[in-house]
Amino acid sequence: MESNFLATKSLFNIPNDLIYLDGNSLGPPTKTTSKNVTALIDKKWGKLLINGWNTDKWIDKPTNVGNRIAKLIGAEKNTVILGDTLSIKTYQALYAAIKLNPKGKVILSDSGNFPSDIYIAQGLIDSLNLNYKIRIVEPNEISNAITDEIAILFLTEIDYRTARKHDITNLTKKAQEVGAITIWDLAHSAGVLPLTLEKSKVDFAVGCTYKYLNGGPGSPAYLYVAPKHHDTIENSIKGWLGHKAPFSFTKSYEAASGINKMQIGTPSIIATAALESSLDILEKVDMQSVRSESMRLTQYFINQIHNSCPDLKLVSPLNPDKRGAHLAFTFKEGYAVIQCLIEHGVIGDFRMPDLMRFGFNPIFINQNDVFKASQILTDIMKNEKWNRPDLKVKSYVT
Ligand SMILES: *Cc1c(COP(=O)(O)O)cnc(C)c1O
Repeated sequence: MESNFLATKSLFNIPNDLIYLDGNSLGPPTKTTSKNVTALIDKKWGKLLINGWNTDKWIDKPTNVGNRIAKLIGAEKNTVILGDTLSIKTYQALYAAIKLNPKGKVILSDSGNFPSDIYIAQGLIDSLNLNYKIRIVEPNEISNAITDEIAILFLTEIDYRTARKHDITNLTKKAQEVGAITIWDLAHSAGVLPLTLEKSKVDFAVGCTYKYLNGGPGSPAYLYVAPKHHDTIENSIKGWLGHKAPFSFTKSYEAASGINKMQIGTPSIIATAALESSLDILEKVDMQSVRSESMRLTQYFINQIHNSCPDLKLVSPLNPDKRGAHLAFTFKEGYAVIQCLIEHGVIGDFRMPDLMRFGFNPIFINQNDVFKASQILTDIMKNEKWNRPDLKVKSYVT
């Protein structure tokens, strides 16, 4: 499958005067998103009303759209369920993994993991008074830290700050050799690089759909569970849609079979329609070519600013094989630089304490955009245009 990125770029609805280097935080809408959401509201919800659950098959959206995501992440059919938020899906995966593996008592993660993932794990341990500990090591120490004590290996493939990439296949293998269960967070991976969950023999994976999957702010998350665990896992949040017969309204809970048992409550049908508009595009591109192109674009940006912006220090791995599709640079006034870039039509973002992040999703960013962005950044750095008090006042969301 060949990918025509000029064609995919034309399918996204991004203002012409903007260079959007933040698709790693919030993907843009497609040109059909608004139309599809409006059609769902007017033609389905507005006409069918409650009958839409049956006649428009809303009730099957979590599994049907789950299957569309499964294809993007190299997972088997009927192993991915859509719904809720990534934080909730992470909680469910952690609980299920703990129940599967009463042997070890240590959850291993790294200092590059998204803090919220660790908060969720610690909150689960505390609220259930579990005899578990979280061990956090540096990302490059993970492999050596996989020992007999480890019950669960819980990692995010692409570091949200540095873009450093873990080797899912090898670390999963190593973890399973010591009897550990693996949970991979794909928040910064899915949609921008090839994933092979089935081949890599991953136990659990979670992800959100509003980053590289362009589902829109707060769009539903997903959970993958390897088929071999479907009969034995338990859902910690026993809502009626994880019941085997929700509409029998029986007094006691009986879990549904397969991945369906990881559902909780009523799915977000309007938000799912927005997500599907993006999946229509993503399904037609070859993830391997997206990957090669993002490696090329990130390299191009590094080369462009290497000499012209000596004050910016790259903290992402230099080897493109070892990083995801974004880049991070440190600069003490990084926040002001990002605000100044936004003023000049280039959108990136800032992460405490001093990181400037830029995402390069080839589906809607091309070399010309990267060239222009690097010129604008160079001008801002060389002429210290960022050095204005108003650019240093932080908003709540950075
Ligand atoms: C974006 C992100 C989250 C966010 O979780 P939400 O529940 O969607 O707010 C969690 N983990 C990682 C690794 C992320 O990158």
